Amino acid sequence: MGVLYSSTRNDESKVTASWAILKGLSDDGGLFVPDHIPALEYSMRELTGKSYQEIAYEVMRLFLTDFTQDELKNCIERAYDSKFDAEVIAPLVEAGGTYYLELFHGSTIAFKDMALSILPHLMITAAKKNHVENEIVILTATSGDTGKAALAGFAGVEGTKIIVFYPKDGVSPIQEKQMVTQKGDNTFVVGIRGNFDDAQTGVKTLFNDQELRDEMADAGLQFSSANSINIGRLVPQVVYYVYAYTKLLEEGKISDGEKINVVVPTGNFGNILAAFYAKNMGVPIGRLICASNENKVLYDFFISGKYDRNREFVLTSSPSMDILISSNLERLIYRIAGNDAGKNASLMKSLSETGSYEITEQMKEQLADFYGNYADEKETAERIKELYESTGYILDTHTAVASAVYKKYVEDTKDVTTTVIASTASPFKFTRNVMNAIDTKYNAMSDFDLVDELSKIGNVAVPNAIEEIRTAPVLHDNVCDKTEMKAVVKKFLGIGS
Ligand SMILES: *Cc1c(COP(=O)(O)O)cnc(C)c1O
Repeated sequence: MGVLYSSTRNDESKVTASWAILKGLSDDGGLFVPDHIPALEYSMRELTGKSYQEIAYEVMRLFLTDFTQDELKNCIERAYDSKFDAEVIAPLVEAGGTYYLELFHGSTIAFKDMALSILPHLMITAAKKNHVENEIVILTATSGDTGKAALAGFAGVEGTKIIVFYPKDGVSPIQEKQMVTQKGDNTFVVGIRGNFDDAQTGVKTLFNDQELRDEMADAGLQFSSANSINIGRLVPQVVYYVYAYTKLLEEGKISDGEKINVVVPTGNFGNILAAFYAKNMGVPIGRLICASNENKVLYDFFISGKYDRNREFVLTSSPSMDILISSNLERLIYRIAGNDAGKNASLMKSLSETGSYEITEQMKEQLADFYGNYADEKETAERIKELYESTGYILDTHTAVASAVYKKYVEDTKDVTTTVIASTASPFKFTRNVMNAIDTKYNAMSDFDLVDELSKIGNVAVPNAIEEIRTAPVLHDNVCDKTEMKAVVKKFLGIGS
């Protein structure tokens, strides 16, 4: 049976997977969700021994049912190739008694590559299938990692342009350097004076600006989104949870059917939602452990049932998790509301009008598989140092938040189920904070000296993504206020006055 998609805010009309990918966000501001979560057609045992690409096909074909076998296989082949510096794409590494699923071996060394290396291919395939002749303009807000991964994915892709907004003072020096050195005539990078939520809200407003959309249509252009609200990003992320389970099974670390727990360092709630989808497809996953940094809006939500963004925004050493509006949570809310778009829409209205909403007891009961907690800056740094000193393995700051939260979980629950921690970035992307956590003596060194030192003490080669930017020239130096985003977009696209 084919899977169709509808908006979380109005489910009267249904669209195909390819149409949902092209649109990104529904016109009513809702997110596209599948009408059911398909079950895996093979047992976990049958899936052992398969490559990442083969598992990707087995998972994605069940969601993207209007793509042909050739189309999908072609997208997968182009995405998961030698851009990744690990042949297995997502290595599973044991350290300190748990498994780290390294999702950072793609071209920009963060887990966003897992989905953004395939999204451009899915999108141009979708455009062809739907006879769309407009040029696709990818409009994206980034907390640091999505931006570069999307730029790398879309740069030079014919029939597309990409515009990325990032918080000027809210990303790491390496993240910023990666973005502003991006090559490609179809790329445009702008820093905004504001935080990630400002950038994300501004982008959503532009998407829903009918006047702008009309002007673009006249010029043969249409928006799409590379943010994690796009279902074309969520589906490829389900793959690595299936893959991780098959690897554990293959290597005899677990027995067939044995449950595993998953810990995910969370920001926009995309990655952990993918784990939830994997569980619903039939992967034996027990608890879904949602790790936050000091922006602990999700922790408070899981405790109280009240989502409340009215609080101070904290800049932390894990900037890709500095988020107060976790967009993908809406997909979970829709589901625990009994797939009721009306109910979800009224909660989201409350969120946009008052900054908060509260779910019912009945909805809360359905969150039993989730466990939320958070780690502050000190706990995060201590976790990096502790694991390094006991095992030699070096975590990035985001993964360290997850690892610190996992420790709290075990102390809290005494649950010692085999656990996979999603390792979302290479430590080389957050070198200064990582090295300072290990020893404050490193504070005096320059960013690139720190890179070499990290390579030495961690006994890991400097990734290509870092080598490339050492000497790369800055090609983008645009900065604007959040009120100027529309004007900046129109100027880049050469439309309007
Ligand atoms: C984006 C990102 C996260 C958060 O992932 P979500 O899917 O937004 O929850 C965590 N860590 C890193 C390194 C990231 O880039």
